[in-house]
Amino acid sequence: MRVFKPSYYEKFKCIAEKCRHNCCIGWEIDVDEEKLIGYMTAQGDFGNRLRESISLEGDCPHFVLGANDRCPFLNEHNLCDIIINMGEEALCQICSDHPRFVNCSEEREEVGLGLCCEEAARLILTYEDKTKIIGEESEDDAVIFGVRDMVIEKLQNREKTIDERIADVKEMFRIELPQKQWDIEFLKLERLDSAWTGRIMAMRGQGHELSKDWSIPFEQILVYFIYRYMSEGQFDGRYNERVLFALLSFHIIREIFKRSEETLEALVEICRMYSAEIEYSEENVEALLEQLND
Ligand code: SF4
Repeated sequence: MRVFKPSYYEKFKCIAEKCRHNCCIGWEIDVDEEKLIGYMTAQGDFGNRLRESISLEGDCPHFVLGANDRCPFLNEHNLCDIIINMGEEALCQICSDHPRFVNCSEEREEVGLGLCCEEAARLILTYEDKTKIIGEESEDDAVIFGVRDMVIEKLQNREKTIDERIADVKEMFRIELPQKQWDIEFLKLERLDSAWTGRIMAMRGQGHELSKDWSIPFEQILVYFIYRYMSEGQFDGRYNERVLFALLSFHIIREIFKRSEETLEALVEICRMYSAEIEYSEENVEALLEQLND
């Protein structure tokens, strides 16, 4: 399998206890089969604690979350007791992968860092170079990867403004974002955090013109969404919708940013929220792809 990754990928390092939105809080954490066997046969007091903290009910074995939906192994210093007691290699698949994502096609595996992790978002948004997708190309690669490279090249044309680059991509596919009241459409979606509702509602108010040049973080956001979603069209044929999903995601993030404090940390937080609320809900992504098919 040939592996592809964005050029910033290896720079990521989890900031653990310094993280404001720890990924071990608020999500159900499934335990994969291989690690389940290890946990169920672990010795001593920690082995007992592991077994007491795993539920085998439902579709998939999972940790029983504690107060405030905390992972039962996240200690009071926001450090992981599984790593402390058994080493990093004992983490279940979902924990060792996060915030990484994988898209697979025949003989090609594409990995990336998800924006739902604040440190990954910080890394992506502050990456100054044009993001390259690094991997061993083959003549047998589907045409879509070449087309996606062309889209990324257009989005990275730093001779032009961000809006001019977006216009070039729309022209390439002869597409336009449907004219909709997107705040209403987003309010119809499943939501995790009431603060996200407030962000969507805020889009109804007057935004301000951005005073600084945010073109590099904006470019990285666009490239992120194109890299992550466009090639998945090879499985459902919805290429245009997927490009529009990338443009819509950027549009919403920028509109919310225009109504917030104009700092990098504010933009990181908006991207993190967007990702957690939209990207990490298959239902929400699907609902938006349908909306973009009108
Ligand atoms: S969200 Fe990111 S930085 Fe925070 S604990 Fe999880 S992986 Fe680490």
